Amino acid sequence: MATFGIDLGTTHSCIAYVDESTRPVIAKSAIGEDTTPSVVYFERPGVALVGTAAKNSALLAPHLVAQLVKRDMGRSGVEFTYHRERYTPEKISALVLRELARAAEENTGLPVRDVVITVPAYFGIAEREATRRAGEIAGLNVLDVLAEPVAAALHHHAVDETPGTRHVLVYDLGGGTFDTTVIRVSGDDVQVVCTDGDGELGGADWDQRIVEHLLSTFRDAHPNLDPSADDLAVQEFTDRAEEVKKALSATMSRNVALRFGGAAVNVRFTRELLEELTADLLDRTAAITERIVETARRKGVDRFDEVLLAGGMTRMPVVAAALQARFGLSPRLSEPDLAVAKGAALFALIRQAKSTRGAARQLGITEADAAAMAKKRVSTVVPRAFGVKAVDPRDPLALTDPMRARQMVAHLLQANTRLPADTGPYPFQTAIDNQRMVEIEVWEQAGPTPSEELADNTKIGHGMLTGIPARPAGCRIEVTFAMSETGELTVHAKELETGNDVRFELNIGGADRGTIAKARTDIAGHSVSG
Ligand code: ADP
Ligand code: MG
Repeated sequence: MATFGIDLGTTHSCIAYVDESTRPVIAKSAIGEDTTPSVVYFERPGVALVGTAAKNSALLAPHLVAQLVKRDMGRSGVEFTYHRERYTPEKISALVLRELARAAEENTGLPVRDVVITVPAYFGIAEREATRRAGEIAGLNVLDVLAEPVAAALHHHAVDETPGTRHVLVYDLGGGTFDTTVIRVSGDDVQVVCTDGDGELGGADWDQRIVEHLLSTFRDAHPNLDPSADDLAVQEFTDRAEEVKKALSATMSRNVALRFGGAAVNVRFTRELLEELTADLLDRTAAITERIVETARRKGVDRFDEVLLAGGMTRMPVVAAALQARFGLSPRLSEPDLAVAKGAALFALIRQAKSTRGAARQLGITEADAAAMAKKRVSTVVPRAFGVKAVDPRDPLALTDPMRARQMVAHLLQANTRLPADTGPYPFQTAIDNQRMVEIEVWEQAGPTPSEELADNTKIGHGMLTGIPARPAGCRIEVTFAMSETGELTVHAKELETGNDVRFELNIGGADRGTIAKARTDIAGHSVSG
């Protein structure tokens, strides 16, 4: 029984397993490639294509093609309609996952059932849960969802067993997202120190810059023709752009042949020009990197032993060069677009080795390897701050007219706290006289940096503390947050005079079994091919 790791990427996905000698191996796609485009083409009712075939169809029928859905994972209310049927981001992701599993089974002969799926480190609980649901809708048993940089580091650590404690900076620039994470690797312990990123910055933005240049070059040569008004032409130019971008990672210049409206233009593209057109995009990644280096410094990390590049975009030589020039870091480039899936496969094996008796036999590995795997610990941090809604005690109205006083989010659990975490009791008070119950509203940080403004946070759940004795305002209440290793949040609120309390768990955005089963049936009818 092999365990699989899946990198469910914004633009490309990848699946890996661990062989008998505990080496992670990529399971190839239906067409023999290491990665599969995370694209679904809803050809006709009940028939969906996934992967390269779907990506190619984007040219002909963009309105029937779903892509970049990872950006909408966990957003409530987001749905797409194809052939009058509605699809959530989870359902579309489930189609991608099902195809990955199908191709992997076909190519390895191993059944794909137990999996670990990776997510960006800055994903909040709702996004993680949506990812888990996508796996379940696809009929997989999701052992865990794991942060991508941790997976990359785990793979890296497995291939490089330098002893001692090391700090690793992971710089991951993919097709649609950028994230950067600091990780501490110490013996068998792999721990996230802090994480930061931008969910709307990636290879597609580079492609866009190239397209703009191609379009304007074309218009300069043929002022009476405007390919930018033609969807098909734009799509074709976009494909050319991605091709030339990739080619320029290996070569210094490339000719691009453009055809439109009976005219043809040959554009000579150089690596230098590409770097010039996209310098500000790279600068944005550098600014975020600077921010995380600063966060890490505040947490006592003042040097990095290793810089790991992940994501297909880091194959561009300018990335490593920029990190070297700005931060004096010498990044290591090792299978940037495969490391996450391989690390996830290793993590799946670690999980199995820990939790299963007779794991070695079941997993088909040696007893010694199973024992070594079971010893590994991977801990992670709270991706974002969590808190409760409260009346701002600094607002003078809090005393005279609390109903009209400013409301804020008081964060109890700070971003980047190590998991499992327990905040200990935080003191609050009732706001009005004779208040017999308190609604405990739990809010999660929504933006990249913590803020107490309600608008910068999302409400993710609530509980009711009842049985408070009739007293003037100021009745003392304590609220405690505890978050498990896998991110489940338990909230405990207690009124101190009577000891009455309420405890509730947040299964945020958690669809019930029935909903998942229904979604699975919905997509089961789809014949899917890579
Ligand atoms: P994600 O995880 O976000 O889906 P990947 O890590 O698979 O993304 O990276 C995909 C991005 O990397 C795409 O924008 C793709 O064009 C780009 N890419 C892939 N190979 C290369 C290369 N050799 N040079 C430059 N960019 C590349
Ligand atoms: Mg990725």
